[in-house]
Amino acid sequence: MKKSITIKNGLVYDPINNLNGEKRDIHIKDGVVVNKPDNDAKVIDVKGMVVMPGGVDIHSHIAGAKVNSGRSFRPEDHFIDPVKRGKITRSGTGYSVPSTWVTGYRYAKLGYTTVIEPAMPLLEARHTHEEFLATPIIDKAAFPLLGNNWYVMEFIREKEWDKLAGYVAWILKATKGYAVKIVNPGGCENWAWGKNVESLDDDVLHWGVSPRDIVEGLGKANEMLELPHTIHVHGNNLGHPGNYKDTIELFKTMEKINPKKGRDSVFHLTHCQFNAYAGTNWGNFSSGAGEIAEYLNQHDHITIDMGQVIFAKAATTTMTADGPWEFALHHLSGMSAWGAKPGVKWINGQVEGESASGIVPYHFNPKVGVNAIQWAIGLELALLVKNPWQIAMTTDHPNGGPFVYYPKVIRWLMDKKTRDDMLENTVSNKASTQTSLKDIDRELTLEELCIMTRAGTAKTLGLKDRGHLGVGAIGDVSIYDLDPDNMDGHAIEKAFSNAAYTIKEGQIVVQDGEITATPMGTTIVSEGKIKDRVYEATLEDVKHHWRDHYSINFNNYSVQPEYAPKIKIVNA
Ligand SMILES: [Zn+2]
Repeated sequence: MKKSITIKNGLVYDPINNLNGEKRDIHIKDGVVVNKPDNDAKVIDVKGMVVMPGGVDIHSHIAGAKVNSGRSFRPEDHFIDPVKRGKITRSGTGYSVPSTWVTGYRYAKLGYTTVIEPAMPLLEARHTHEEFLATPIIDKAAFPLLGNNWYVMEFIREKEWDKLAGYVAWILKATKGYAVKIVNPGGCENWAWGKNVESLDDDVLHWGVSPRDIVEGLGKANEMLELPHTIHVHGNNLGHPGNYKDTIELFKTMEKINPKKGRDSVFHLTHCQFNAYAGTNWGNFSSGAGEIAEYLNQHDHITIDMGQVIFAKAATTTMTADGPWEFALHHLSGMSAWGAKPGVKWINGQVEGESASGIVPYHFNPKVGVNAIQWAIGLELALLVKNPWQIAMTTDHPNGGPFVYYPKVIRWLMDKKTRDDMLENTVSNKASTQTSLKDIDRELTLEELCIMTRAGTAKTLGLKDRGHLGVGAIGDVSIYDLDPDNMDGHAIEKAFSNAAYTIKEGQIVVQDGEITATPMGTTIVSEGKIKDRVYEATLEDVKHHWRDHYSINFNNYSVQPEYAPKIKIVNA
């Protein structure tokens, strides 16, 4: 397949290379951006259109055991969105947990070319990679779950930092993972005993460590290994009123960790909206986004993503490794699949006690005060954090809502009029009384949007080969039919709903919103920098321990090369 192309006359947004809508031609040869045209390159003229690097989604649950459980326990999710087979596309189902093939197609149509699956249970890594193999077009990476791991907690308690780093390096290698994921540190371990943690300094039962110790310890190990991304954290007390204070406390505890060379940040808090709540109960629930944004505006060691709530046409399928939270939501939501008895549907999964998970269907309703406030908080975060390199656009798909609603989020961020219409006509007036959204005039520019959806997310992830269109970058490009000098909310939503072109490594994969090719994407992994001596010593220790104390075998963890035939290793 020809991978040389010249994209002529587009208005190029490439913040990493200081291009802000300038007219430029982009040349791609053998899948990579080059500085002059290839003789037999295909030429497309995109005069007047917006050209950006391919989208990079930093947090979206698209593959693995919990995603597949979400698919199988919600037939009603499939009935409303069947997808027919096309000339070159497979059939499938869509809506909140699309089948793997549909996931690849739909992301490509939005102009996205890289997506991160942020929660991979160690023992179900193979399942995650199997689904990656069946998810076409986009590149993928997965984050192994380490925040409630017994070895991690033991090494932290004993202050064996070399061994902790060695263990993390081995897990990344064995599971073909990319970065360290921490979900409700300590809380999921306590959940195995029917309990949770409520503060950073609570005890993790039987382990002699606290959530703070876990986050600090893994943060330290992450920087020792010089991993490309920071630790990626789903905080404690997610979803609870008043949790913005815990969030800021968590940010403060990371002030003492030094970043590796090449990045300022040491910590990524994911789906921050769910951890930006003020008030003390659901009755006086309000926004804590202002306080969080103020902290970020004064500190550069933290990045976050939004976790925006969407008012979708049907219930979404919430899914997280935060088992105790899903149990709470299952009681809060009082929802069943068929509108029968409240709280009927709920899945709880524990993977050999190494991590938890839960799934609950949930419908965000604009007329419900709490949901309207949640919707406003996500937007407040994105509009109040001044530096767009510190906040990424996500819905925590499918938790806040399915990723296919990104064009709506973009419209809300770029057009105050649309937001005001929503506040006046659609959502509960609690969004106006309990948040500051109505007073925010900021409208994101195309450059800022480009940062929040590709340049910034690639930088935060430490992926230097994408998120920009400089020479040597991967030839992933998205092109939108939008006139930057004349765009209203409607035009913005329409343009971002269907890319005019999506180009993957120099090949046109979407044209006028239709899939034109379905190449297999790359699996991106990282291994970290560690001395052989330290690595070998850790493995000896771990193997020995396994034999005596664990129900599973050392060899159960390794994901064989066949699971990732097209792989890219990104190291420091
Ligand atoms: Zn998530």
